[in-house]
Amino acid sequence: MDAITLDGNKIAAEIRAEVAADVATLTAAGIRPGLAVVLVGHNPASEIYVRGKVKSSEEMGIYSEKHTPPDTITTGDLLELISELNRRDEIDGILVQLPLPPQVDSKRVLMAVDPGKDVDGFHPVNVGLLSIQRPGLVPCTPAGIMEILKRSSIPIAGREAVVVGRSDIVGKPTAMLLINGNATVTVCHSKTRDLPGVCRRADILVAAIGRAGMITKDFVKPGATVIDVGTNKVTDRAEFERLFRGNAKREEGFRTRGSTLAGDVHPEVAEVAGALTPVPGGVGPLTIAMLMFNTVRAAKLRRGSRVVELARV
Ligand code: NAP
Repeated sequence: MDAITLDGNKIAAEIRAEVAADVATLTAAGIRPGLAVVLVGHNPASEIYVRGKVKSSEEMGIYSEKHTPPDTITTGDLLELISELNRRDEIDGILVQLPLPPQVDSKRVLMAVDPGKDVDGFHPVNVGLLSIQRPGLVPCTPAGIMEILKRSSIPIAGREAVVVGRSDIVGKPTAMLLINGNATVTVCHSKTRDLPGVCRRADILVAAIGRAGMITKDFVKPGATVIDVGTNKVTDRAEFERLFRGNAKREEGFRTRGSTLAGDVHPEVAEVAGALTPVPGGVGPLTIAMLMFNTVRAAKLRRGSRVVELARV
């Protein structure tokens, strides 16, 4: 029997509706959450992501503004922009779209964002708060993965979870959230021995690798929940055949566009998994929804006492 599809679009729509309701309440109390997005230069992929984030903010009723310094900007000038955004009270969230140009010290820029406005959850203060389970801002993709699990009633406590990938933005925070959810967690990476064997222990398997269709059937315990974070552009015909042979819909898209988007999980995994997130339409939609959630959360955490005061007036 084929795995249940965990529909990320549907779950993201639920979260967006909740966020929009929260924004309406806050705005009625005189506090409209605000997001500033910083997009340096003209990276086409970054431009698409930022457009999606700004559009989504508008749909939620969140105030948003876009800053587009040239790709010749210095670290110093970018730090100045961040410090101005840190000072402005109506800005609750600051998002610096990565990658930054090579002359810019990216780590220094990310560390300069006020942790209370760090809606990406990348600042060391937020990383620390997550690890000691104190209120903070959690990276969007890992937070979205947890929402998929929780809202799909997938049990976490006491389960074996395996996360393949240890990046600071996906693998590590996902592992931390699963630990906080009382799963028994193993984190794998490129030096892990017997990766298929370790993955086969998982009740919950998270693939955040960046290699199209690397997780095949033999990595998956029958009935396991598989979360596919990977977003890989497949342009090679042989690679396409390995993953999607016989899939007419994919074939049509590949022929017209010359590429298709594939996850890290091979489609054949649907034959053994209990539940599986599709690519596209799985984890991806949650990432932007959680950015909106984080912006409202930042507004509440930072201006929380004022929200209560205003409600009393
Ligand atoms: P990353 O920084 O490149 O990290 C990849 C991880 O995979 C590393 O820890 C690496 O191990 C591990 N890895 C690579 N090859 C491996 C192998 N053969 N066996 C075992 N482990 C291996 O990538 P990332 O930023 O975490 O992103 C991962 C994927 O998720 C990418 O496809 C990315 O596009 C996608 N993504 C999607 C979303 C979304 O919203 N859907 C958001 C973020 C990222 P080492 O540490 O040993 O090198």
